[in-house]
Amino acid sequence: MELWKMGLKELSDLLKSKEVKPSEIVESFSKRTSHIEPKINSYVTNLIDKALEEAKKKDKELEKLDQVSDLFGLPIAVKDNISTKGIKTTCSSKILENYIPPFDATVVKKLKNQGYILTGKTNLDEFAMGSSTENSAFFPTKNPWDYERVPGGSSGGSAAAVGAGIVPAALGSDTGGSIRQPAAFCGVVGLKPTYGRVSRYGLVAFASSLDQIGPMARNVEDCALILNVISGKDPKDSTSADKKVPDYLSYIGKDIKGIKIGLPKEFFIEGLDSKIKEKVLNAAKQLEKEGAEILEVTMPTTKYAIEAYYIIAPSEASSNLARYDGVRYGYRARDYKDLEEMYSKTRDEGFGAEVKRRIMLGTYSLSSGYYDAYYLKAQKVRTLIYQDFMNAFESVDILLTPTTPDIAFKIGEKVSDPLQMYLSDIFTVSVNMAGVPGISLPCGFKDGLPVGMQLIGKPFDEGTILQVAHYYERLNDFNKRFPGE
Ligand code: GLN
Repeated sequence: MELWKMGLKELSDLLKSKEVKPSEIVESFSKRTSHIEPKINSYVTNLIDKALEEAKKKDKELEKLDQVSDLFGLPIAVKDNISTKGIKTTCSSKILENYIPPFDATVVKKLKNQGYILTGKTNLDEFAMGSSTENSAFFPTKNPWDYERVPGGSSGGSAAAVGAGIVPAALGSDTGGSIRQPAAFCGVVGLKPTYGRVSRYGLVAFASSLDQIGPMARNVEDCALILNVISGKDPKDSTSADKKVPDYLSYIGKDIKGIKIGLPKEFFIEGLDSKIKEKVLNAAKQLEKEGAEILEVTMPTTKYAIEAYYIIAPSEASSNLARYDGVRYGYRARDYKDLEEMYSKTRDEGFGAEVKRRIMLGTYSLSSGYYDAYYLKAQKVRTLIYQDFMNAFESVDILLTPTTPDIAFKIGEKVSDPLQMYLSDIFTVSVNMAGVPGISLPCGFKDGLPVGMQLIGKPFDEGTILQVAHYYERLNDFNKRFPGE
């Protein structure tokens, strides 16, 4: 098999037994990249040539190593809202177009300690606000399965790159679905860890009470592998949890007898495409045959999740984005007559329409006359959503739902209707609101385009969703296909 078709674990085994060299691996991905990348535009900064040079250095290092780390010599892409020292980190925004961070995010540092090879910084919706990458200030990324369709968002560049096979894995960030929704649209596996599982130091903040970094890969085991590396307490992020990190790989290959899986009836509603519904219910049947127990559960507050999310996330964004003032770093307007005008012109020229919409929504919800009616109310709804999850988890171990109401939509189809766009996250936002972990994995195809299903776990129980996801993956072969073949 060609190297570019392999996952991280397979490649790592070959490296460890010294059957291949890092440069041979990167070379193979580089060829695939030159062939496909011009068609999909997944990278804001394509570093594949630098990666090749780096790989040659790693060839020599490997000869001398007795103990080879799990991610040594492996190519991985990083979403462009995660800080990389000395490498542009733009958030796909004009305001950070030329920003070069002087430090690495903790997750990047951890990957570096393993000896990974960075292949590039991937495109996203500006500041991770969006569901299609059409909000990137630079260009939209295209879905590798159909170049007329979106890859999802906001981690659309990461998802498209992994889906196309130009890189075996990538990091994404997920505030309301930004890892799982694009993973579903591009036919890859994407995991949003529990809030606090992974340090966000160096992740450019969008909505701080919701943001998490997570892995996107070709298979479940590779997500477990990356999660092992990036998890854990970080003194630089006070929201990272001081909780022991289990070996997530130990859940891979375990059987699923007796595991109770809940189907929340509010996730199988009108508006969900009938083919997607059928595929997710088929997955439930398959898992039942293998010894899992399937139960229906109810989570009545689900229907308010989008509304509450679009108060809370913009409120936090309006505060987080106040730092882009043209003074300390980033873009500054050219002509202005005084300080006030410098601020307003900088922000007017530097931010795109969706970011401005969020700042306005958030500022409004937080303003003194409306705070109680909007922000406070949304926070109360958030508590109810959390309680819904905790109630459900009293009778089941995990939940199974669709990831998205439909397959990837056409480029341009939803740009003029922000509300339609917001609805693409209907099955993912409540997971962020509750802070619990969720994984999306392929469960079939509709009209030649990938369909994803979502498994949701108890707080800090990424292990069980990885276990069930891997078991399901092995029963099927949806992740073995590549687009353009
Ligand atoms: N699509 C959602 C939004 O626009 C979620 C984005 C995300 O998870 N970063 O806010």
